[in-house]
Amino acid sequence: MPKKPDQSYHMSADEFRRWGHAVIDWIADYHERIESFPVLSQAQPGDVRASLPAQPPAHGEDFSAVLADLDRVILPGVTHWQSPNFLAYFPSNASGPAILGELLSAGIGVQGMLWATSPACTELESHVLDWLIDMLGLPGHFKSTTDGGGVIQDSASSATLCALLAARERATGLDANEHGCDRRLVVYTSLQAHSSIEKAVKIAGLGKQALRLVDTDEHHAMKPGRLAEAIEADRAAGKVPCLVVATVGTTSSHAVDPLPAIGKICREHGIWLHIDAAMAGTAALCPEFRTIHHGVELADSYCFNPHKWMFTNFDCNAFYVAERAALIRALSILPEYLRNQATESGAVFDYRDWQIPLGRRFRALKLWMVIRHYGIEGLQHHVRRHVALAQQFADWVRDDDRFEVAAPVPLNLVCFRHLGGDAINQTLMDRLNQSGHLYLSHTRLDGKFILRLCVGQTKTEAHHVERAWQRIRDVAGTVEKEQNT
Ligand SMILES: *Cc1c(COP(=O)(O)O)cnc(C)c1O
Repeated sequence: MPKKPDQSYHMSADEFRRWGHAVIDWIADYHERIESFPVLSQAQPGDVRASLPAQPPAHGEDFSAVLADLDRVILPGVTHWQSPNFLAYFPSNASGPAILGELLSAGIGVQGMLWATSPACTELESHVLDWLIDMLGLPGHFKSTTDGGGVIQDSASSATLCALLAARERATGLDANEHGCDRRLVVYTSLQAHSSIEKAVKIAGLGKQALRLVDTDEHHAMKPGRLAEAIEADRAAGKVPCLVVATVGTTSSHAVDPLPAIGKICREHGIWLHIDAAMAGTAALCPEFRTIHHGVELADSYCFNPHKWMFTNFDCNAFYVAERAALIRALSILPEYLRNQATESGAVFDYRDWQIPLGRRFRALKLWMVIRHYGIEGLQHHVRRHVALAQQFADWVRDDDRFEVAAPVPLNLVCFRHLGGDAINQTLMDRLNQSGHLYLSHTRLDGKFILRLCVGQTKTEAHHVERAWQRIRDVAGTVEKEQNT
């Protein structure tokens, strides 16, 4: 049914109110019935596009028609990341206050590139990021009230790229923006580090030849001795080491690199140390898990993703630097049309100088709402619960002689495998994921196919993890029988 346009074509305030309520109801219903969908979308390539009209509408449609298509066209093509049975990759958990914060951010609709383009957007961000330093027990020199400071990036990938650009400036003392990238620069991370580090090295113009992947120990953590050797060899060859990226909680197995030893090496050689704690960082909300951050005071920069495990929907990465000057030197640009008194006074942060894009959303709103809604106590409660459930799962795996735990389980990620070999594990995972009852993912450690179960979704409770283990054992039994006949 084509909609009869009024003169403006706009959605009226009354219509907005009506459909706004309907959308909130839709989201609330979706979360209530989320377990009725197969966790992993069963759509085949092209299915979603095949259900969409080839041509865009010439005449505006009634919003009810659009909402109906959300159920008909979109949901079948959705993998339900918010399902409590989503145990794959890492969580991307959302919550009521975060979703409302996101909606308000769109509703207020500011573009916070400069302090002057919306002071609240900048100051709430600085303030909430300072709160997080106290909440996670991070070093005080990351606070915006010192020479350091925090900024929200879209992702850990962007944070790493920004850290590299700042490190590049500091290492050469040369203005890379003026002279281009020094080809002698070298970056170090471990063999188990996230792919975003390689990507940053490529984007920053150092080239993959500048990346050293340092060997890891039996627990998949960086070997500091190997790092020191690589740095010395590069120095001797006339190279300029500029950045080390250490990981707290690798994506593959949650390995924690030995920060004190790595930090000491970085200090000796004057190399920028960036710490990527994308998922694991959230655990530091609980004092008993802060051992993962032992040595973090030696870092020049640090980031973690509230958009993974802190109930703040994507995107929201908290990125901190100990000295903001290098970062701003690397990223600052001031065309005439952005000149303003507040900037000239030096009394404010213009966050466009702390990130790659110019424009930025009001992301601090959702983070603020999450922290105020849950309080430190509520956030700690859920993180502890997730860790306890993962530890319980690991115990069940250890007690079953058909399975083994394949890596240390410091927090909420369990790497495990059936002892019957790669084929059986692959079949086991495929069957479980096709069943729609749960979603697991895999990695490879020491050449072996390993299953990963990560507990971190907002609504994951004990019975979800218990049922997952029951299903894993049942399907394993079936696959074993098939293999024996
Ligand atoms: C998930 C993850 C990343 C990537 O995070 P984005 O925010 O999607 O860029 C980087 N590093 C680690 C250790 C991760 O777990």
